[in-house]
Amino acid sequence: MSDSPVQTNIDFSKPGTQWGTLDIPFSYNLSGWAKLKIPISTISNGEGPTVLLMAGNHGDEYPGQIAIMKLMKSLEQEQVTGRIIFIPAINMPAAKAATRLSPLDGKNLNRCFPGDIDGTATDLMAHYLSNEIFPIADAVIDLHTGGRGVYFYPCAHMHLVDDLEYRRRMAKAAQAYNTDFTFLYADVAGKGLLPVEVESKGKTIVTTEMGGGEVTTAAVHRTSQDGLKNVLIHLKVIEGEEKSRVDLGLPPTRWVQALDAEDYIFAPESGLFESFVDVGAEVSKDQPLGALYFLERPDRESTIIHANNDGIAIAHRGPTLTSQGDILFCLAHNVEAEVLRTFE
Ligand code: CA
Repeated sequence: MSDSPVQTNIDFSKPGTQWGTLDIPFSYNLSGWAKLKIPISTISNGEGPTVLLMAGNHGDEYPGQIAIMKLMKSLEQEQVTGRIIFIPAINMPAAKAATRLSPLDGKNLNRCFPGDIDGTATDLMAHYLSNEIFPIADAVIDLHTGGRGVYFYPCAHMHLVDDLEYRRRMAKAAQAYNTDFTFLYADVAGKGLLPVEVESKGKTIVTTEMGGGEVTTAAVHRTSQDGLKNVLIHLKVIEGEEKSRVDLGLPPTRWVQALDAEDYIFAPESGLFESFVDVGAEVSKDQPLGALYFLERPDRESTIIHANNDGIAIAHRGPTLTSQGDILFCLAHNVEAEVLRTFE
């Protein structure tokens, strides 16, 4: 145990169902000794794995928050073998404000790991997870979307870890989400990511990109919720029969990756963005993918955005209003057969 100032009324060693909060000390102008309360619950039943189930790491990513809230209420204790820890909205201030970053301190929780015991509320959250929760978990499921900024083809994703046994375990768990694409991603946006911290402890980590922008379709909710249950069955923490895509009458998942800097296309200038392609579409090198238009200069030619390479448009920008440097497209490519063999 660390000497974290974060407190909880949950006793993680206790069997049964508990509802509680993580209480993170912070202060603001109307309260010097406030507690930021993060709802958390556990269902514990007999011997089995411990799975941490969380969403709202980026506050404006809601399908996972809904999936967890539904699941935590619908599961009976007898359906669980082992323990599930539910945190539907870990970055509660951001979830309430529909923001990616915490409005308390402006920080991105997913760049704050392993956390800082002397830091702000977001640093304390990361520190508590790293030191108190990840160590007792066998697997962590952190449900994301592309946030308001990016619309993803709904998919599960993972890092390509080096250790082959570990990689296989992660690939099987990610694949249990049964999404059309399963995505290998690179850390293009810096350090301090939650999955890296979980991987440093050798635990299975399953993450998703369930759409994004500000619309969540019924189909995306279904994919989020059905896949999550199947992953929990795969991890043997809830009862049920694991379903493969073949069982569901679907073709195998398509493993894709975007590991090179040129797979990420950024806005060369500000404007209104139109995508010419839907996510999931195959595109070819130099194909026009979209355009930027200029409100103040409708006479100007639009700036056409071209594909750097052949690939699949796995994600495009969410909002129309675009600033120079915003991500416009992520192009993914088929994972090589020799890498796929390491997943078997
Ligand atoms: Ca995210």
